[in-house]
Amino acid sequence: MSKIVLQGFLYDEKSSFKKGPALAPPMIREAYHSESSNYFAEDGMEVLPSHFEDMGDFTIQDYFDIESITKEHLKKGLPILTLGGDHSITYPILKALHQKHGQLSILHIDAHSDLYGDFEGDPFSHACPFHNILREGISSNVTQVGIRTLNHEQRTHAVKYGVHICEMKDFEKFNMPNYERPIYLSLDIDALDPAFAPGVSHHEPGGFTTRQVLKIIQDIPVPILGADIVEYNPNRDINGMTAMVCAKLFKEIVVKML
Ligand code: MN
Ligand code: MN
Repeated sequence: MSKIVLQGFLYDEKSSFKKGPALAPPMIREAYHSESSNYFAEDGMEVLPSHFEDMGDFTIQDYFDIESITKEHLKKGLPILTLGGDHSITYPILKALHQKHGQLSILHIDAHSDLYGDFEGDPFSHACPFHNILREGISSNVTQVGIRTLNHEQRTHAVKYGVHICEMKDFEKFNMPNYERPIYLSLDIDALDPAFAPGVSHHEPGGFTTRQVLKIIQDIPVPILGADIVEYNPNRDINGMTAMVCAKLFKEIVVKML
């Protein structure tokens, strides 16, 4: 594959705590282009702007416009990388991908399992996308890693749908699943410890180092067909350091998609 589709959603209407992720896509793009670094990923590949069919960043009126816009972009027949936006965007993106590719295995990196049936009355909250994905049978193979906030409801849903969860406290025992086909990767930046990525709405201590997340991505044994980077909140960032973390992870994900 020589190119991927890039799209951004300027959307944080489903954020339960703080707004700000709607501002993220242009900030991540800016960090990717920053002269403070270069375009090289760690495997030696240069991730160039010419590798992208860049569809731009979209302001969303209706939540399910995310699905129709993604569907349109999938017509290019290329892997698709999305810059969020809050985590609610993952469900309509995967709805669109499911119509084209059928069931996909999902690797979900997050402090939160996002498995609520509804959150504060909203079944499409950023706390709910994986419940929607599982309930609708969009994927039946979800692996979550980095989780450190499970409550009774989310544990119940994880058992009901057979979600493979490696909680952060057990990360030393994490084994990459034996994937045989391309997967979808959903990366919530709050999976990282706030010390490494302060620019998120929900500071959840006890998380990943940047290096640990890089290692997970680099260890994925199959191509990535679709991915998202979500929950970066520029309003909470310090000197753009989280934007640079996002740009770094962005380059490593792109390598796995090309
Ligand atoms: Mn999340
Ligand atoms: Mn999270």
